[in-house]
Amino acid sequence: MSEDKNFSTARLQLPLARSAIDRAGHLRTDSAKMAELWSVARILHFSSGKFRTHESALEFLGTEQVDGLVASGAFDFGDRFFLGLDGSQPYFAWCGDSPDIEQFPNYLTLRELGAMLSDLENGLAVHAQALANWHHKHQRCPQCGGQTVSASGGSVRKCLVDETEHYPRNDPAIIVLIKDDQDRILLGRQKVWPENRFSTFAGFVEPGESFEQCVIREVQEEAGVLASDIHYLGSQPWPFPASLMIAFQAITDNPEDARPDGEEIEEIRWYSRDGMREAIDQNQLLLPPTISVARKMIEAWYGPDHIRDLKGGQAWR
Ligand SMILES: [Zn+2]
Repeated sequence: MSEDKNFSTARLQLPLARSAIDRAGHLRTDSAKMAELWSVARILHFSSGKFRTHESALEFLGTEQVDGLVASGAFDFGDRFFLGLDGSQPYFAWCGDSPDIEQFPNYLTLRELGAMLSDLENGLAVHAQALANWHHKHQRCPQCGGQTVSASGGSVRKCLVDETEHYPRNDPAIIVLIKDDQDRILLGRQKVWPENRFSTFAGFVEPGESFEQCVIREVQEEAGVLASDIHYLGSQPWPFPASLMIAFQAITDNPEDARPDGEEIEEIRWYSRDGMREAIDQNQLLLPPTISVARKMIEAWYGPDHIRDLKGGQAWR
C-alpha cells in the first residue's frame, strides 16, 4: 500500500504509553535491596482504584507518611510494588485500600488524571494500577487453590502451599480504524454507551489467534465488512483492568456491506471529515475520551491541523 497522505501509517503517540522510568527488574529479587530502596522511595498511593493527588497532580509520599496513613486506620496495610528508578531515585506504589475512598476528594482515577500526567508519572501510574488490579484478583493459586503472596517487589505471586510462581497477566485486545477507498472511516456504537457515542472497533484476542486474524474476525463480526491491508499503528496499556491495546488501520473494499451485528454493536456509520465535523457540531457524535487509542486514531486520520474541532468525550467511563 502506498504511504500517501490519505493512508498514513505513522506510529501513534499514545497518552498511556508514555513512560520515563527504568524498571530495574534485576533488583526485584534482592529483598534487602528492596527494603533499602523503600526507605528512601517516592511512593504513589493507589487505593481502591484511585490515586492520591495534591492540587490535581499525583502526590508522592515518603515511608513515614505511609506509616502514618496505615496507623490512622483509614487504610489497610496493603502491598508495596517496586516501580523502578529515575536516576538513583526509587519509586514504589503502596496499595493500602480504604472502604471509604469516596470521602477523600484528593483521590482521583487514572481516567481523570490521564492527560495531565507527565511521562514519568504516567509510566508509574499505569504500572501501579495494572499490578494492583492483578494482585487483587489473584489471591489464590490457580494450580492448587492455596493462598498466594506478593514477591519480588510485586512482580510475582508465590503459592504458600505448592510454591509455584505466578506472573502478572496482560489481556491483548486489538483496536482497528477501518477505512474505505474514499478515505472515510467506519465507527460503531455499542448499546451500553452513552447516546451518540461512536468509536472504532475493538476486541480481545482469542486463544490461538494472531493479531491480524483477530482484526479480520472482529471487523467481520461487528461491522460485516472484510478488512485487508492491515497496518500496525502502536500500542498502549489499558489497565481497566488488564488490557494491552494493539492498534491497527485497515481497508475494506466492500463498504456498502457494513451493518451492525445487532448484539454488541447497534449502529454503524461511515464518516468523511466534513461529515464528522458536522455531526459533532449538531451534537450527533460524541467521540471517545482523549486518553483512548480510538480517539488518537480518529485524530490522526482527521489531521493535526484541525483536531481542535473534534471536541467531546472527556468524561466517558
Ligand atoms: Zn498452589
